Amino acid sequence: MNRIVIKVGTAVLTQDNNIAKERMLNLVTLIAKLRERYDVVLVTSGAVAAGYSALKLDKRKQIGKKALAAAGQPILMTAYKKKFDIYDITTAQILLTEDDFDSRKRTKMFQEIIDAHLENGILPIVNENDITSTPEQLFGDNDQLSANVAHAVESELLVILSDIDGYYDKNPQEFKDAKIYKVVNEIPQNLLADISTPNNEFATGGIVTKLKAADFLIKNGRKMFLCNGFNLSAAESYLLEGKHILGTLFE
Ligand code: ADP
Repeated sequence: MNRIVIKVGTAVLTQDNNIAKERMLNLVTLIAKLRERYDVVLVTSGAVAAGYSALKLDKRKQIGKKALAAAGQPILMTAYKKKFDIYDITTAQILLTEDDFDSRKRTKMFQEIIDAHLENGILPIVNENDITSTPEQLFGDNDQLSANVAHAVESELLVILSDIDGYYDKNPQEFKDAKIYKVVNEIPQNLLADISTPNNEFATGGIVTKLKAADFLIKNGRKMFLCNGFNLSAAESYLLEGKHILGTLFE
């Protein structure tokens, strides 16, 4: 079966510092359908925000953020487990850092772990292990992590589910007349140097990290589809019916 990596951002997964359970269930339902056609790997954000539901620490401080992530990771995984149990899907947790991609030996190790999961019908759920890592060992955002995972596991496509319908010529949250791009073949390199522009207080990426992820994948002969994670119809049409109605395809 073809492999796909799905990355879901904080904006989609959390609401008012809690896990957005209904949206998570919709995502889980979509993944259950996708697994009839694809081997799926999920890359998820949301641990820091989930941690904030249990303890109130300052997430802008390094230790606060790590302590929140450590508390939030099991909360996040428990929420996923409850929902995947409905579909009888067993999940596995894989925590990675940028370092894991630097050494061929370590990359091979997690590639083989993910292969073993997929061969046995288990859904690997990946997140960045930022708890005991230094900033130099981290991507710092799950957009670039998920692009590297997609490449490492030889997934043809990375699907990024965010709080927008796709990539626009300007920020759609600020400009009503922003126009969406349907297909993008090349990322202007000057855009990759822009500072990150996340929309949510717990988000770390913004559009720049998504463009970096797309640039990496295009250069490695893979594709990325950026679409809405609040309303999953664009993802569903594209992935299950082969119809590109909404969302931006980078190829
Ligand atoms: P996520 O949590 O899904 O990773 P982010 O908040 O990190 O979401 O990134 C998505 C946000 O990027 C959008 O909500 C939007 O405000 C912002 N953004 C800035 N410029 C653009 C653009 N040109 N096209 C789309 N989104 C943009």
